Amino acid sequence: MPPTLNQYTMQDPTKQYPGPDFERQPQSAPGLAQEMTPQPDHGESSYQGFGRLKGRRALITGADSGIGRAVAIAFAREGADVALNYLPSEERDAQEVIALAHAAGVKTIALPGDIGDETFCHRLVQDSNAQLGGLDILVNVAGKQHYVEQIADLETAQFEATFRTNVFAMFWLCKAALPHMPPGATIINTSSIQSYQPSPGLLDYASTKAAITAFTHALAKQVASRGIRVNAVAPGPVWTPLQPSGGQPQEKVEHFGAETPMKRPGQPAELAPVYVLLASQESSFVTGEIYGVTGGHHLP
Ligand code: NAD
Ligand code: MG
Repeated sequence: MPPTLNQYTMQDPTKQYPGPDFERQPQSAPGLAQEMTPQPDHGESSYQGFGRLKGRRALITGADSGIGRAVAIAFAREGADVALNYLPSEERDAQEVIALAHAAGVKTIALPGDIGDETFCHRLVQDSNAQLGGLDILVNVAGKQHYVEQIADLETAQFEATFRTNVFAMFWLCKAALPHMPPGATIINTSSIQSYQPSPGLLDYASTKAAITAFTHALAKQVASRGIRVNAVAPGPVWTPLQPSGGQPQEKVEHFGAETPMKRPGQPAELAPVYVLLASQESSFVTGEIYGVTGGHHLP
């Protein structure tokens, strides 16, 4: 019998997961992982923890689906207690993650709400800190991406909402979290290949990702002397509900990932190990770094 292939088995990475063509599958934002074909892999049946985050207390945004879900599963299996944020409309996806984190035997707290609101961000950090008994890791994964072809059609309301979700919320959450964080704590933001190679139809989104990159560099320098590290992950195309729910036009969803040297999109399960590394003490000399996980389109 051949061994069951999983993310720990040596194999050809270009064939490890599905590639294009994909079905068109429109959803309204923020979209649900449950509605995607093929189903994304968040590591539900594969991620193995090794106690790398044992006893840590982590707040993760965008934790219901996609990259945030993979991070939540991985962190819980590595022994971290987790506070999970997502939008109330995503409760169906969130319930699956909450069950998986519980099954890992860690404390799991659900704190749904809109991070585009400063008051909510403040409360999210206070509640996480109070209910987890401290805060060692903040993972900003939540993000908004809505494709608009021409600047003439890009409304101020969208431009502002994208910045509120992707940039302002990160600022508010970092600002609220830092006073609670001890030396050894880490912040991990989620940038994008779009920070470096922006697509013409993602004018607002790409600009927020460049802002996240600069914010990560600057905050890392600011808090290094306190023993707190700040890094970001910059994914390339990843198979998540962000894309078919307006992040890309449907004709681009069909060919999603085709332009990468790997000729396929990444799966959320392929991102989680990098977040674990950046959260754990193993990356003790890494700060202010933007870690690309792009399938071959390297960062400058
Ligand atoms: P996703 O749709 O699964 O996750 C995004 C999450 O953001 C949603 O689940 C939702 O919970 C959260 N969110 C959005 N608006 C919010 C709000 N106002 N308040 C609270 N939560 C809100 O998609 P994903 O691809 O896993 O996205 C995660 C991160 O990865 C985002 O920051 C995205 O920009 C980034 N990213 C994704 C890709 C990709 O190809 N999928 C590539 C590069 C970067
Ligand atoms: Mg979601």
